[in-house]
Amino acid sequence: MIRFLDLKKINDSFQPELREAIARVVESGSFIRGAEMRQFEEAYAAFTGTMYCVGTGNGFDALKLILKAWIVSGQMDEGDEVIVPANTYIASILAVIENRLTPVLVEPDTSTFNIDPARIEERITPRTKAIMVVHLYGRNAMHREILDLAAKYNLKVLEDNAQAAGCFWGEQRTGSCGHAAAHSFFPTKNLGALGDAGAVTTDDLELADTVRTLGNYGSKERGRNDCAGVNSRLDEIQAAVLKVKLGRLDQDNRARQFAANFYRMHIQHPDVILPPEPPSGREHVWHLFVIRSPRRAGLLDYLMKKDIEAHVHYPISPHRQKALKAMNHLTFPITERIHREVLSLPLNPMLEERELETVVTALNAFA
Ligand SMILES: *Cc1c(COP(=O)(O)O)cnc(C)c1O
Repeated sequence: MIRFLDLKKINDSFQPELREAIARVVESGSFIRGAEMRQFEEAYAAFTGTMYCVGTGNGFDALKLILKAWIVSGQMDEGDEVIVPANTYIASILAVIENRLTPVLVEPDTSTFNIDPARIEERITPRTKAIMVVHLYGRNAMHREILDLAAKYNLKVLEDNAQAAGCFWGEQRTGSCGHAAAHSFFPTKNLGALGDAGAVTTDDLELADTVRTLGNYGSKERGRNDCAGVNSRLDEIQAAVLKVKLGRLDQDNRARQFAANFYRMHIQHPDVILPPEPPSGREHVWHLFVIRSPRRAGLLDYLMKKDIEAHVHYPISPHRQKALKAMNHLTFPITERIHREVLSLPLNPMLEERELETVVTALNAFA
């Protein structure tokens, strides 16, 4: 059986460091907002090339808190619009809605699955306040054009970097390309904790401060609550674990790229469309290796029979989900087609070449 993602195998490869890190926290008697969190925040800010990092409870909270901080500081208001990719995981859109902002969906580029920069300007109105860039599947989605539009219309650029930890855009890492970025360390992500965890990175001190305060019930000083915040903090055990795993993130992403190149070189089937090679200066860290096929259902069945675990990210477009009823009448043909045709093959840093070969051989023989 070729597992889609064997988290036990991956985390075992970090032993004994993980056990030691967790034991250190247990011994310390400090579990929330202590030295481990501060050290990880410093390390992750340095890693992404940003001035500030604020740990949060998860990636969704990181997205929500950035938008909430812009509202609290008077830079946006309820009902203002945020440009969001139509082709994304629903969390990106829910973060906008939770803040009573209005998501305005924009179609992706068919081959990259990421927001099509050429379709953004036509959706900008006097109420538009931000553009959310989602580096979906680990493919860098930032474009000079997006930053230029943001400057022209005075918009914030918010990166959803949940799937692209460690990715480069030229000399810069994703998470440092806009005004703020949300990161998820959900266990399956490229940098995965052993539970829920997330972070915000930014060069904006005021924003970092507001996010930290909002995530701690709006309290900056013990006993004083300046705004109506929430509870969303990165705990000491997850911070200690993340510090260990951050040390190998670049190497792990290289292993993902090796696997992706192997697939791209060897998979050859008339009914399979491979993800395009990223152009130079635009990195892909392959959180997921997503192919397209008009025969997806048959292919999924076939792979399962061959003992190869494949998944669909994602089967239903966000605007077609019951959860987003107000959008159900909209049509985004490119997004809908992508959701009908995509299939994710097993890909992670621990996959061995012979396992990659097994997947390739099986796929190429699909009748
Ligand atoms: C995982 C993910 C999130 C949310 O992160 P959590 O840590 O699960 O809350 C947000 N956006 C995208 C694109 C994701 O993949």
